Order: sequence, then C-alpha cells, then structure tokens
Amino acid sequence: MAPGELEQHQGRVHDVAIVGLGAMGSATALELSRRGADVIGFDRFTPPHGFGSSHGDSRIIREAYFEDTVYVPMVQRAFALWRELERSAGVALLQPTGGVMIGAPGSTLVEGALRSARAHGLRHELLAADEIRARYPVLNPEPGMVGVFEPRAGVLAPEACVKVQLEQALRRGATLRFDEPVSHWEAGNGVVSVFTARGRTRARQLVITAGAWVASLLPGMRLPFRIERQVLHWFEPAADADAFTPQRCPVHLWQFDGDRFFYGLPDSGAGVKLAFHHRGETTTADSVRREVTAAEVDETRRVLRRFVPAADGRARASTVCLYTNTPDEHFWIDRHPAHANVLVASPCSGHGFKFAPVVGEIAADLVQGRPTRFDLGLFRWRGIE
Ligand SMILES: Cc1cc2nc3c(=O)[nH]c(=O)nc-3n(C[C@H](O)[C@H](O)[C@H](O)COP(=O)(O)OP(=O)(O)OC[C@H]3O[C@@H](n4cnc5c(N)ncnc54)[C@H](O)[C@@H]3O)c2cc1C
Repeated sequence: MAPGELEQHQGRVHDVAIVGLGAMGSATALELSRRGADVIGFDRFTPPHGFGSSHGDSRIIREAYFEDTVYVPMVQRAFALWRELERSAGVALLQPTGGVMIGAPGSTLVEGALRSARAHGLRHELLAADEIRARYPVLNPEPGMVGVFEPRAGVLAPEACVKVQLEQALRRGATLRFDEPVSHWEAGNGVVSVFTARGRTRARQLVITAGAWVASLLPGMRLPFRIERQVLHWFEPAADADAFTPQRCPVHLWQFDGDRFFYGLPDSGAGVKLAFHHRGETTTADSVRREVTAAEVDETRRVLRRFVPAADGRARASTVCLYTNTPDEHFWIDRHPAHANVLVASPCSGHGFKFAPVVGEIAADLVQGRPTRFDLGLFRWRGIE
C-alpha cells in the first residue's frame, strides 16, 4: 500500500498540511514543527529548485522598507529569525553589505525608504550623487539623484535558506513529500483532504504556499494575481573588481526614468547580479518562457552602462524567475473566505523572500489561533469570491 493510501486507511489526521515547500512553505513547516505540531508538506518538485521564485543565488534583505512602513517590524523580526536559523543549523545564510536606494528626491524609492527610516528611527544617511560615487566608486548616479543608505541591508542565500528550513523541519518531525504535486483539496467537517497521485491525506488545517501556482489550488475564486516573468543577469566586472566585493559594495536599488526600477548585488564570485524589478511579461508557472534572449541581456547592459559602468564585462549567466503579484504589490496572507481552516500565504509580489521566516511564524500563529504580533491589514484577502 502506498503511504498516502496507508494514511487514509489508518484514518490519520495531521494537524497541518502544507502545499508548496519553497520559501514560505518551508518556513511554515519549520515553525509549526518547532511548536510540536504534526505537519505534513508537499511539493511538486524537490526544493530548492529553479522553477519557482526562490532561486538565483541571492536575495536582498533591507530594513528601510520603501514599500510601506508596516513591513519594518516584520523585517526586523526576519533579521533575528535568519540569525537564529544560522545559529541552530551552523550555516551562514546572511551576508551584511549595507544597502543604498537611489533615485530622484521625492521618488517612490527614496521617499519610501526615508519614510520608513524616520518612522522607525532606523540608522540611515541621505547621500548626494557625488557622495555616493565617492563612497562606492562602482555606482554612478546621475547628477541630482540622491541615495538613502542603510547599514543593516544584506544578501541572503535563498537555496541554502530553503534547504536549511526543510532540513530543520524534518529534524523536528515534519513529514515532507517531494515530487508529489497536490492536484486539489476538499474541506468539510473541520478536516481538509489533500489529494495527490499517491492518494488522500487529511489534516485539520491547510496552508497553501504554492507561490506562482497558487491560483491553481484555488479554483473557482476570482483572484487578481499576475504571474510575471523576471530575468536575472550576472556580469563580469570590466574594471574595479575589488570594489564589487560584498565588503565594499552595498546592495543597490535604483529608480530611474520616472517609474523604472532595477537593482544590483555585489559580486560574491558568480559576477555582479543585476535585474529589473517588474515590467516583465505576464505568464504562468507552467508556460513561462525559460530561455533568455540576447536582446534581454542588451537591455540590461544599457542600464548597467549608465549606472554601474564598471560591471560592463562579459555576460556570464541569466536565469528566469517568477513574481506572483497582487495589484497593490502587498502580500496576501489570509484565511480562505469560505474555509477558515485554509490559509493562503503566498503572493509576495517580488519582495517576499527576506520575510520567509516571519511569514512562517505568522502562518503558524494563524493556524494555531494565536494572536500575531504584526499588523496584517495590508495582506488581507482582496479577491472577489
Ligand atoms: C528574480 C527575483 C528576484 C527577487 N528578489 C528578491 C529580493 O531581493 N528580496 C526579497 O525579499 N524577495 C525577492 N524576490 C521575491 C521572493 O523570492 C519571493 O517572494 C519568494 O521566493 C516567494 O516564495 P514562495 O514560497 O511564495 O514561492 P516558491 O519558493 O516558488 O515556493 C512555491 C512552491 O510551491 C510548490 N508548488 C506549487 N504548486 C504545487 C502543488 N500543486 N503541489 C505541491 N507543491 C506545489 C512549488 O514547487 C514551489 O516549490 C525575488 C523574486 C524573483 C523571482
């Protein structure tokens, strides 16, 4: 008898089933199993993998959060939880670099970062273009641009983070089933049944953390999610290679030509990573165009030549990744409107990775009926049933 059928036969009901074991799902599995819950998780692949939203060597973590001040206490908790995970696993996951948000005075990026820094009393500096160039010779803001520097920002290693969260969840007793897509679920009488090719699994609560596939697990719901193809590029420094190291180069976010955004990360050996934020084509997780064209590399290079010209060396690699966007670009962490024991914690609109352990903690609180310490108002269910 296959394991799924065996469980059905035995009538076992887990405390929580989790669909999707990427960034958010692995964190949720870890937190719940740490609290002693009987957790079972499923993933359609074996995470960490390169088909969803959590691959590509690096993710930025930053504190002066331009998107909204409400994220600042959450990111502060995330810093603490990433450090705790590093200690318990004995693995380095977070490299501090500092961060600078560069744009016109009054731009969304600069103004938003300043608002969060001031509202929460964060250490920061407002730098003029020539001060940025003097301090970070590889960054080349245009005259009139300014930058908000924050010292706590850094770089997370996403594949290692997911791997460690899964390993730690397993060590604490979670059951994790890989390469086993969940086809659908049914809720009734306080129990949720989750179906895969191996059979039915039952749990009192279901957490859906399926990232770019989330809508396929919520059929019949009119949901506003947009899956966006995003391309990451790595370039070899053409000059000043030493000035690109994480010790000397902060993570850098740019708003330019009005409402265009791109960001760059220091070179930890793979090259200087650069990518646009948004403006990618709308796609689906299953049909996304995975190949990257020369035109896409060229478009990135044109921006790099303006703002990070020393990175204008050989294009080393590119990869495709997926954003799951909400219309307002805020997260989506809420109970299913028709099933209080089904929680959706997924669409993070291209800025969620840094929060993964906090999302795990929030999901665990909601599932266990505990008060959460964060204001989740912005993340409520905004779809039309
Ligand atoms: C190019 C790019 C750059 C980014 N940069 C940053 C950054 O610098 N900082 C930052 O904080 N965030 C960043 N983000 C956003 C961040 O990476 C995402 O918000 C985060 O990784 C999303 O995690 P997730 O758990 O929702 O999705 P994923 O990690 O993709 O996990 C979803 C999982 O669900 C599984 N799944 C799907 N359907 C099923 C099913 N039916 N059955 C079983 N399993 C299923 C998938 O296999 C997958 O493993 C970036 C994203 C991209 C794409």
